[in-house]
Amino acid sequence: MKRTHHCNELRPAHIGQTVTLTGWVHSRRDLGGLIFLDIRDREGRTQSVFDPSDLPKELFDRASSLRSESVVLVTGKVRQRPEGTNNSKIPTGEVEVMATSMELLNHAEVLPFPVDDPEVSSKVNEELRLKYRYLDLRRPEMARNLRLRSKVATATRVFLDEQGFLEVETPILFKSTPEGAREFLVPSRVHPGQFYALPQSPQQFKQILMVAGVERYFQLARCFRDEDQRADRQLEFTQVDLEMSFIEREDIYALIEGLLKRVWKTAHNIDITTPFRRITFEEALNRYGIDKPDTRFAMEIVDFTEEFRASTFKVFSGAIANGGVVKALNAKGLAGATQGQIETMTEYAKSFGAKGLAFIKVENGEWKSPIVKFFSQIEKDALTIKLKIEEGDLILFAADQWLNACEILGRIRLYCAEVLKNQGKLVIPTDRYDFLWVIDFPLLSFDKEQNRWYSSHHPFTAPVAEDVPLLKTEPKKVRGQHYDIVVNGVELGGGSIRIHQPAVQKTIFEEVLQIPPEMVEARFGYMLEAFKYGAPPHGGIALGFDRMIAILCGTTSIRDVIAFPKTAKATDLMTDSPAPVEPKQLRDLHIQLKVPQKEDPKP
Ligand code: ASP
Repeated sequence: MKRTHHCNELRPAHIGQTVTLTGWVHSRRDLGGLIFLDIRDREGRTQSVFDPSDLPKELFDRASSLRSESVVLVTGKVRQRPEGTNNSKIPTGEVEVMATSMELLNHAEVLPFPVDDPEVSSKVNEELRLKYRYLDLRRPEMARNLRLRSKVATATRVFLDEQGFLEVETPILFKSTPEGAREFLVPSRVHPGQFYALPQSPQQFKQILMVAGVERYFQLARCFRDEDQRADRQLEFTQVDLEMSFIEREDIYALIEGLLKRVWKTAHNIDITTPFRRITFEEALNRYGIDKPDTRFAMEIVDFTEEFRASTFKVFSGAIANGGVVKALNAKGLAGATQGQIETMTEYAKSFGAKGLAFIKVENGEWKSPIVKFFSQIEKDALTIKLKIEEGDLILFAADQWLNACEILGRIRLYCAEVLKNQGKLVIPTDRYDFLWVIDFPLLSFDKEQNRWYSSHHPFTAPVAEDVPLLKTEPKKVRGQHYDIVVNGVELGGGSIRIHQPAVQKTIFEEVLQIPPEMVEARFGYMLEAFKYGAPPHGGIALGFDRMIAILCGTTSIRDVIAFPKTAKATDLMTDSPAPVEPKQLRDLHIQLKVPQKEDPKP
């Protein structure tokens, strides 16, 4: 190494030693005839001082002309900083290096944005940050994220190794099995007109590894889904993917609780409490209106179906007569909601197919709402008691089919929480981690548009044994052996116990999911065959690694914890990808393009 110490190493104990540091010029200040250069490397920064009375003029001049972010090597003697000039904000702040020589290793042009000031750089437009990602990653905050990611990856590997897991890589060039999200296709040159697909997850391979007798598999697996981008989505992302044989759901719960305990301890020295709480899908929907509830605050949804069954308010009693429910929530202290906020919430309700949003503002001792006049005293009393209504509250209703009513209020609950938090009326602690298992999901969900059942998790999920007889008669009632791990309203991962009997798997594909037998054979035939040769009972889970790191780093965007993420428009601004290719490349792949013409701008 050219250096003797890194830039976060020198302390008073080093005073008097001659040291060499290498790194970037974090800042240069000319003060009282001296030049102060802060040199930064991955570990931190150290102040060096150039004193013209001790140095050849040529060296001093070179130091005074240095640009920020140039790469330098500085040698000098460590000394105590003069009285009153200590910098308590950095660990090396008690000492400085009196430079005796300096070598410019590489010059830097003026940067497109500063990296030395967290205040300024946090406001830099994200597109610019992504175009110059290598500069963005120099920012200490981003470097910290990368480091934490690496540390957690190592802790994960060590933990799973201790538990007897083998790390096995599975193919990136897989086969198209378009059951879940949209896939990326890769044309085959050798087999004209045929395609590989990038895996949405290593699901099928990990199950095959169980048939292969691996017993415990894991992988920090890259997965690819051609979906529209959101803050917590990327076209490619990483999962801590694992699978185990001869286990039950409880084994997965215990394993993941142990893993997360280790991860939180390693990352933040926090001891999280295990076992985690468990909540059924139904209870999560009933109380929080979502299958990944943020339980750090209450604002729970309350059911009023019985109270309004015979109501003269037809909007409610009519919905109930139609097989629906009436639910409400109390956004405490939000009676002053603006017109705009009410409209936003109404839009949420409409996006679930509701006609509007009924609400009551409790202001000046009065219930302000056009619907209150239809309520009987008994109905009003029930609302007051069950919702603990007080002055200043905002009551919101949903009268709809059960799932819809829950989801409407679930969405509104999160919105109200955000508004109340911003007004300082609700505290959602950021240093608390509410882990919970969501269990007893329905095995199947119904797709109204396509008029068919689809798997709530994926088609390999085993039904709860006692519900199997209902598969053909009442599919809606069948629970799946599927579980999600949730923390603070974020789905950290999910998995299931799998079907390991080929006949049951075939029934699910053909009779329940109504996939034509030829298609089942073409897509999953190899798996059904593998299961005939002694498939052990097995199950697994995948944790969203990027999301987990984002939570640990306290950021809401997974782009902040991925070295080279894509934009919301699915582009890589640094390498300028995707991009056109040469006609010859397309010819080799037997591909002819038919790209829609961009519409001409109107004259
Ligand atoms: N492969 C599943 C997923 O990506 C996870 C699992 O069931 O293990 O969601």
